Amino acid sequence: MPSETADLPAPKKKPRPNARRSGTIALLGRPNVGKSTLLNGLLGERIAITSHQPQTTRDRIAGILTTPEGQLVFHDTPGVHNAKNRLGQRMNELAGSTASAADVVVFVSDVGLTVPSHVRPEDLAILKTIPENQKVVLVINKVDKVREKPQLMDHLASWAAARDFAALIPMSAKKRDGIQQLHKVLLDLVPQGELLYPEDELSDRPVRFFVAELVREQILMRTREEIPHGVAVTIDAYEEPSGTSTKKKSVTRITLTIHVDKDSHKGIIIGAGGKMLQAIGTGARERAERLIGAPVHLDVKVRSTPGWFDDAARLVDLGYGDGAGEKKKPKRTVKSVKSAKKKAAAAR
Ligand code: GDP
Ligand code: MG
Repeated sequence: MPSETADLPAPKKKPRPNARRSGTIALLGRPNVGKSTLLNGLLGERIAITSHQPQTTRDRIAGILTTPEGQLVFHDTPGVHNAKNRLGQRMNELAGSTASAADVVVFVSDVGLTVPSHVRPEDLAILKTIPENQKVVLVINKVDKVREKPQLMDHLASWAAARDFAALIPMSAKKRDGIQQLHKVLLDLVPQGELLYPEDELSDRPVRFFVAELVREQILMRTREEIPHGVAVTIDAYEEPSGTSTKKKSVTRITLTIHVDKDSHKGIIIGAGGKMLQAIGTGARERAERLIGAPVHLDVKVRSTPGWFDDAARLVDLGYGDGAGEKKKPKRTVKSVKSAKKKAAAAR
């Protein structure tokens, strides 16, 4: 006897409107247009260092944004510029290869204030390096600086003629205006698929990388002209607290060296009576404690390493290598501070 359900039609395959999406996004553009500010705005945590000085970002940083709709993995590239030395060349190569490997490129520019309808030739030159079949979203940043809205419209119109963009988004990264819209557009452009990284991961970079960056940020904030660009920071020792709960042992101890290009810069970084170095150390320690979510002890030294940014072997030593050593999964990566706090509260 046939079963009663045998004649029922097979259930239809339903489309999955709620399937998650995930993909990689490269942030590309001239130095100082606000790429790092935008990344920090998207992530809601200050992960990439920013400053008013150009060429602040030297390396590729992945920031990861996971929401119920999916996961976007961002690569913040160094701004493309005319390379004057080996470090500069390395930065441009990184930007180019990151752009072609990503699912979507976010090309960031800022509003031209002098000739509003003008698209800068440097922007067009960078745009040309992106393969034609690559999806590109154009972000015009710093619109908070424009008083006359028709000027902005003229500017956007000249950009629209430059390439077939997947979307064109005016934004103020600083005021977090337009960030939600960009997030939504990007989620629509990346493929459906499973998460690329665990849900609570914020970056695939190890914590020690960010601590070195925080020290560099303090130097960028506190010094001028050629000093910030002649500086590299290495982490010499990174001691995490052991499992025991005595107060002294719950401190993360980090020993690091600030490398300067010239002997004369050493004195400036140290400052009269060691005051400058003390301020750099305190500023970086406070930020590192927020990042790690626990007390930090920083031991900072200054060393003169002349010509480091033109010496290929030194660049590798100082962490600006060709990435060959980056394949190993880092031991500890930056988890969301919120999730670390949640876990700590649950353990109590
Ligand atoms: P990047 O070199 O492209 O990564 O640029 P940064 O993110 O380091 O920003 C460069 C400078 O532009 C910093 O001083 C930022 O505060 C500033 N900036 C970034 N976004 C905006 C914005 O939307 N409006 C204004 N007025 N300034 C911005
Ligand atoms: Mg940057």
